[in-house]
Amino acid sequence: MIPDCRDHNVIPIDKFSDEKYLKGILAFEVPRCSEHQQEKIRFYCTTCSKLVCRDCAIVGHRGHECLEPKERLNITKQNLERAIQSSGKAVISVQRMRTHVNSATTSIEKQIANSEQKVDQQYDQGIERLKTDRNKLKEELEKIKTKQCTPLKRIKDKATNWTEAMENAQVVAKKIMTAGNQWDILGWRMILQTPLKSSVMMRLL
Ligand SMILES: [Zn+2]
Ligand SMILES: [Zn+2]
Ligand SMILES: [Zn+2]
Repeated sequence: MIPDCRDHNVIPIDKFSDEKYLKGILAFEVPRCSEHQQEKIRFYCTTCSKLVCRDCAIVGHRGHECLEPKERLNITKQNLERAIQSSGKAVISVQRMRTHVNSATTSIEKQIANSEQKVDQQYDQGIERLKTDRNKLKEELEKIKTKQCTPLKRIKDKATNWTEAMENAQVVAKKIMTAGNQWDILGWRMILQTPLKSSVMMRLL
């Protein structure tokens, strides 16, 4: 069966890669009606802003202003031109807005970064101050400690020495009594006053 090619564009095989030729064909191609697959588009219905075929014009668009392409083409081209221009303007204004937003964002980010740096600096300075204060306070405390503890240590040392001396004296006195030497007993006060140098002490201990 030979396929029905009456409505088809028949492209010679040698023109297959000829872009210009193909574009020329596409420019004159007539689309089919979406309602009536057998029919090609014939009119533009200005009432519905729709492309319609002959059947459509008779049935669904009766009484509508259905125009031939040549009657409508110029004004549509102008509209399209205007739409392209205004969309171009819209693109430019959106680009401007984007540039503006970008620079605003950058400046906010810079300000934030600045503020963060300042906060860090203040923190560091605060820490430095606290360290200095802490060291000063420690030095002060150290001084107070030395001042107050040195006399106490002296007193403590004295007390220790005195206690030891007293214990020694007690031991020596008991030994003098036990030994029963009358001269030692008579001279006990002298012996105890210079306990370490006393030869009697050495003998007794
Ligand atoms: Zn075909
Ligand atoms: Zn139709
Ligand atoms: Zn219509």
